[in-house]
Amino acid sequence: MSEVHEKISTKSPLHPIKSRTVDVVVIGGGIVGKACALGLAQLGLHTIEIAPDLGQTVPSPQGDQWSQRVYAFSLSTQKLLAHLQIWDALDHSRMQVVRDMRIYGDRGEKDDQLHLSAFEAGTPQLAWIGESNLVEHTLDQASRFQNKLERLTDVVEKIDTDHDGVTLTLKNGGVIQAQLVIAADGANSPIRSELGISASEESYSQSAVVANWICSYPHLETAFQWFLPGGDIIAMLPLPNKQVSMVWSTSPENASALLKLDQNGWSDLLSSIANAAIGKQLGELTLNSTPAAFPLRKMRADRFIGPESAPKIVLIGDAAHVMHPLAGQGLNLGLRDVAVLLNILGKREAFRSASDPVLLRRYERQRQGDTTALLWVTDKLKKLFSASGNPERQLRNWGLGLVNRSHFMKQRLIERALGEIDFE
Ligand SMILES: Cc1cc2nc3c(=O)[nH]c(=O)nc-3n(C[C@H](O)[C@H](O)[C@H](O)COP(=O)(O)OP(=O)(O)OC[C@H]3O[C@@H](n4cnc5c(N)ncnc54)[C@H](O)[C@@H]3O)c2cc1C
Repeated sequence: MSEVHEKISTKSPLHPIKSRTVDVVVIGGGIVGKACALGLAQLGLHTIEIAPDLGQTVPSPQGDQWSQRVYAFSLSTQKLLAHLQIWDALDHSRMQVVRDMRIYGDRGEKDDQLHLSAFEAGTPQLAWIGESNLVEHTLDQASRFQNKLERLTDVVEKIDTDHDGVTLTLKNGGVIQAQLVIAADGANSPIRSELGISASEESYSQSAVVANWICSYPHLETAFQWFLPGGDIIAMLPLPNKQVSMVWSTSPENASALLKLDQNGWSDLLSSIANAAIGKQLGELTLNSTPAAFPLRKMRADRFIGPESAPKIVLIGDAAHVMHPLAGQGLNLGLRDVAVLLNILGKREAFRSASDPVLLRRYERQRQGDTTALLWVTDKLKKLFSASGNPERQLRNWGLGLVNRSHFMKQRLIERALGEIDFE
């Protein structure tokens, strides 16, 4: 492995530029970028992580304050975080195990529902629900003690690549040379644009309104999802302390109206929709966070590694793919990118460097199937449940019931939701 070298460039004598050489640079400070940078450093690769928001450790969520950024974590995410020695360090009193999922169609008929059960599937749980900042904080803590990892609060201004590696010029004047650059800079990835990697993109013309609620009935470790007539989707994910985290996908206009509601407005609304089913399941709901809204879209980069002209680049996480949150899988998919990349680099043949094109092509090949399948399924489900025609309405509701009656199909669905990944 190469050591971190420092030298002063002579290109600009008036403003000397600090130039460094490392094995890998990870660009992006979200969960995917942080997990990837930590994992690469744990492999013994000298790694620098660069993002504008890396200046401070994300504070750990405390006491009654619950973040409204909440995720469903799949088994594949649990395995990756355990591999990175993060999972056991998480505060598990703030994590909720999900043992049941109940999904309801939009006709309000008794048979239009799908029930997935961990017990029936012979697995201890279907997922875990937890706050984003809980995981980010723990990743930050672990990164502080990883001496092969350095973090820079900076922005990449220029990226020059050739067959030997990548040279990054930073806004604060530094220059970094790396064998390999990983772009984890989110859905609007400046690196993806800079390299001219095209992407297929589609707006769903929907926003997701998220908020946490205290419910008067126990949620019974169940994640609920209601498809509503007109295409809205409401998910209520269980959290500790009799709380649920809501993700309501709706039109941007309705999302703006929802953000203006007070507790009484919300109570009236939630008791009147989905045939009052939300209240029947969860009782009275008391707002426990400030609601926030996020625009929704689908995006898939046409390649997950740099083109011929810039071969030493890898895209991961939302920089490579974005999906509707109805299946709660976007982050899990991004963390599977990380797991696959770490597996490939960790098991590489002794004669290959970390940026060997054979390894990068291996990564791209291995990620294509999982990504395409998940994007396709979530997109088709979203569209099937938004269609207003009667045939589509019959089909989607009948489909829920059909899957519900098939042990085989339920088992396959659960396997998909758990996500496959193994570390050797
Ligand atoms: C409402 C909602 C609910 C969701 N629920 C779930 C769920 O339950 N389960 C799940 O698996 N997924 C879920 N997702 C998807 C999930 O939020 C994303 O897939 C995930 O956050 C992507 O992580 P990331 O690290 O790739 O990108 P981001 O979290 O977007 O991070 C990108 C990072 O890039 C960095 N950056 C930006 N610009 C630059 C730059 N110029 N230079 C350097 N760095 C830069 C920033 O540091 C930023 O933090 C949900 C999404 C939404 C909208």
